[in-house]
Amino acid sequence: MDDVPRSKIFDDIYFSVEDGLAESQFVFLKGNHLPERLQGQKNFTVAETGFGTGLNFLALWDLIDSHAPDLKLHYVSYEKYPLTREEIEQALSRWKHVFGNKVDTMLAQYPLRVEGFHSTYLTPNIKLTLVFGDVNETIVKTQNIAVDAWFLDGFTPAKNPQMWTKTLFDNMARLSAPEATFATFTAAGDVKRGLMAAGFDVEKTDGFGRKRDRLIGRFGGAGVHVPDLPQSVAIVGAGIAGCSIAYWLQQEGVKVHLFEEGDAPAQGASGNPAGMINPRFYKLRCAEGHFYWSAYARALQFYEALSQIHDVDFESCGALHLCTNEDKQERFQGLLENWGYPEDVAQFLSKEETREVAGRDVPYQALYLPNSARISPAKLCAVLSQDMPVTYKFQLPPLGELRNEEGWQINGDNFDALVLAVGAGFDEIEALKSLSESHKLKKVRGQLSQARATEKSMQLTSTAHYGGYILPPKEGVHVIGSTFQPWETSTELRRDDDVYNKEKLTETLPELAQGLAFTSCRASLRVSSRAYFPVFGKVEEGLYVSLAHGSHGLTSTPKVAQMLFNPLEKTDNCL
Ligand code: SAM
Repeated sequence: MDDVPRSKIFDDIYFSVEDGLAESQFVFLKGNHLPERLQGQKNFTVAETGFGTGLNFLALWDLIDSHAPDLKLHYVSYEKYPLTREEIEQALSRWKHVFGNKVDTMLAQYPLRVEGFHSTYLTPNIKLTLVFGDVNETIVKTQNIAVDAWFLDGFTPAKNPQMWTKTLFDNMARLSAPEATFATFTAAGDVKRGLMAAGFDVEKTDGFGRKRDRLIGRFGGAGVHVPDLPQSVAIVGAGIAGCSIAYWLQQEGVKVHLFEEGDAPAQGASGNPAGMINPRFYKLRCAEGHFYWSAYARALQFYEALSQIHDVDFESCGALHLCTNEDKQERFQGLLENWGYPEDVAQFLSKEETREVAGRDVPYQALYLPNSARISPAKLCAVLSQDMPVTYKFQLPPLGELRNEEGWQINGDNFDALVLAVGAGFDEIEALKSLSESHKLKKVRGQLSQARATEKSMQLTSTAHYGGYILPPKEGVHVIGSTFQPWETSTELRRDDDVYNKEKLTETLPELAQGLAFTSCRASLRVSSRAYFPVFGKVEEGLYVSLAHGSHGLTSTPKVAQMLFNPLEKTDNCL
């Protein structure tokens, strides 16, 4: 057991050399009086500093499986230096026989290593939120949780004093549920005093193995309660925005009902045969960029997990954003420098490297996102909406006619909240008029073309973006897009637009464009805001929107679904 993972940054080990699992069970589970406290509870929230390999999380999940299988767990873990999937797999391999497929289930949804709050359901009862970033910054932004038990891991205060701060302890107090407890492996005096000053009763008790002492304790204050989610929500619009909200809320235990104007899901911009998942790029660090990177991570996590059980044409093909001019090169390099992400998130490629990734000659430097993927939005919406009540051919009356004292009544059913995810239908709704004006919502026509691959273009293995984009062939057919026609509201199919899409490709990648023959096309209306940023959140009591996802709806909508009600992260991005 001497090959335990070690952090170079902190010169410290991730878990005990003697027996990491036994230590975890003793220090964190027993230290918080689990499993006794889990018995008879419906919901339980644990927060941890330092996710590391996820050993503490798995030990708890295992305990719940054997002692309280009906309990709903929300496990929130803060991690500044996330390990890679491979590192975690390697570190946990010694306990494969104990955890069975839990490790694979956890790793399958391990988020891309970008900053932010990454929440997901691993099973209907186990919700895991990994918060990547320094806990002293991210805990301040945390809201809407009431923590029942704190696992204070993180490297020893002697080697990592920056983590064990007054900010951490004060925010633990702010987020503690009534009767919250904590446990930690350390007995350091500063930690003891810090926790006491924040309102915790602290007790020194026996340490694990060779460690003499450790601290456990209880919050002495009143504790917080999280506001309830609405019990029932009506969602208008069964495109990707509406479907992802309905799906997430259903996982959260909310009763949902989708109402759709068309006679099937994904009739508008979400009905395209294929789309890519990419963030919108912001060179400088800003709230909008932060939103898009964490939305990108959420979309990939969510779609990849869905694709394990459903056919949604998900393919992790990577995306090349080509430097077709000096401006782009400067912008992409600056972006990488400012955001500082590891190579599994984004990297800058030379021409030679681009060729290798693309599978054929693409003579440009590029910003490369190796995990970027394609998916069929139409299939995705069908899958997301398949196990929930949907009313098709629904005509939304003026909202005043649906209001009642408690909330909303639609077709005889009552709802606490109404969400409008109506895409290009926004301008037919009187109640959205002022929102539409203040955010300068506008429709943007886009036509994408499908073309049969040639012998040369068949070799393309990654998506290439150059203002337009071309996807690698699927069943011998490329998707090439897309026109961008603000203020045009017709969805008629135009040969000129196909020609435009091909010309744009020819300008950048003439070899690839040569000989491509169109097979079909699709036109739809996207919606953009003045800021080219989605408009979402609460418009008035009980009324919410998720709109203006522009051409990045596949990326932004699953994240927005998590941010509409009781968002975990304080943000200025919401209405
Ligand atoms: N709980 C882990 C497990 O089950 O594998 C072991 C945690 S390891 C001892 C400590 C973790 O704390 C490391 O993953 C480290 O990156 C993280 N960490 C250290 N300082 C941090 C900080 N300021 N904010 C968030 N995480 C931090």
